[in-house]
Amino acid sequence: MNKIFEKVLAVMLVLFFVHCGSSNGDEEDAALSIDTLSNAVDSINEPQELFGFIADSFEVHEGVIKPNDFLSNILLKYNVPYSEIDKLAKASKEVFDVRKIASGKKYTVFCKKDSTGKAVCFVYQPNRVEYVVYELGDSIKIRKEKKEVKTRIKTASGVINSSLYQTLANQDISPLLAVKMADIYAWTIDFYRIQKGDWFKVIFEEKYVDDEFVGIGRIIASDFNHFGKDFYAFYFVQDSAKGADYFDEQGNSLRKAFLQSPLKFGRLTSGYTLKRFHPVQKRYKAHLGTDYAAPTGTPILATGDGVVIASSYSKYNGNYVKIKHNSTYTTQYLHMSKRAVKTGQFVKQGEVIGYVGSTGLATGPHVCYRFWKNGKQVNHRQEELPPSEPIKEVYKSQFMQEVKNLKQQLDAIELKSNEAVIQ
Ligand SMILES: [Zn+2]
Repeated sequence: MNKIFEKVLAVMLVLFFVHCGSSNGDEEDAALSIDTLSNAVDSINEPQELFGFIADSFEVHEGVIKPNDFLSNILLKYNVPYSEIDKLAKASKEVFDVRKIASGKKYTVFCKKDSTGKAVCFVYQPNRVEYVVYELGDSIKIRKEKKEVKTRIKTASGVINSSLYQTLANQDISPLLAVKMADIYAWTIDFYRIQKGDWFKVIFEEKYVDDEFVGIGRIIASDFNHFGKDFYAFYFVQDSAKGADYFDEQGNSLRKAFLQSPLKFGRLTSGYTLKRFHPVQKRYKAHLGTDYAAPTGTPILATGDGVVIASSYSKYNGNYVKIKHNSTYTTQYLHMSKRAVKTGQFVKQGEVIGYVGSTGLATGPHVCYRFWKNGKQVNHRQEELPPSEPIKEVYKSQFMQEVKNLKQQLDAIELKSNEAVIQ
C-alpha cells in the first residue's frame, strides 16, 4: 500500500471504529492453508511441539506477566541462579531487551524434568505472532521467531441498512474488513453516504495463529452494489515491484487520479502559499488555493468524480462550487461567473460545473481552485496522488481469466439480506 492509502486506512480506523477494541496489526503473508482442520486431527497422536521444543520432554509452565513482575523473579522461581539471569539480561540487549518485557503478555517456561526442575528456556510473546526464545544454561542463546500465520479464505455478504460496519458486526465479522473495503473503494464510493439497500459480496482472507483469529488478510474480490450499480474489485499483481492493486472487471484501476487543473487551458497565476501579498486587500495573507486565469465564460471542470456539497454564493468566494470526492478529498472552485450544477448532484470527472468569472473578491477573471485532504487544505500540485493505470496488455488475458473465475464465485455467494436487529 502506498502512503496515501495507509493514511486513508488510518483515518477510517479512527472515524469508524473508535469504540472497538484494538486488533493485532501483525499480518504476514502466508501460504494458503485450507487443511488446518486435518492438521489438527493428525496432531493428536504426534508429540506436541511448542515454540520448536518437544513439550513432553519438559515440565512446561505457562503464565502472564503481572504488573511489577521482572524476569528475575520469574526465573528465580524456576531455580535459575542470579548470575545466569544477569548474563541473560546483558545478552538480551542485542535481540529483545528483557527490560521491554511488559505486563499482560504471555510467557512459557520450559523446565528440566529432573529433581532440579531448573528452567532451561524462557519464551516471551510480545504479541500473538512473534515470540522471543531465551535459552538458558552455559551458553545463552536468544532469538526472535514468528509463529506460522495460516490463511483461510472466507466469504461474506450483506444488505446494508445502517452501515457496512454494523452489517459486518451483526454477522460477527471483523470490522477490519469494512476498513479494507473502504480503502479499496475510496475513489469510487463514499462510505459515509452509503444508501440503504446497498449490498455487497466479498471473498477475503482471514489470518490465524494457533487457530486464533489474528486479522484480515487480503480482499481477493468483491462486488459492492451502490445505487443499484455493481462496483467490482479484483486483486491482481502485475508488477512485483509496484505490488498489487485493485481493478474493475475491465482491468481499470479502482484508483482515480485527479485532473491536474480545473481548466483545459488556463494560466497559473498564483500558487498555493502560506504568505502572499493580496492584490485586493493589499496585505500579506495565506493563499490556500491555486489561481488559474482564463477569459470569462471558460468552462470549469470537476477534477474528479464526486457529490456537489455546495453550489452557492458568498461575499468573498463569489459563485462557488464544492465537491466531495470520497472520504479523503474535497475540492472547491471560486469566483465563477455562472454555476452549472446544483447541491446534491453527482458529477463525473471532467464534467462542466461552472464558468470562469470574477465574482467575489477577485481582480480579474480566474478560478481559485482549493483542495482538501482529510479536512485540511493542501497544495494539490504537491500531493502524491495515486496513479490510475489499467492492467498492462501483457497481463490482460491472465487477468480476464481470473476475473471470470472470481465473478462466478462472487455470484455463487448467497446474499444475506436479513440484518439482525440487536435487542
Ligand atoms: Zn485564489
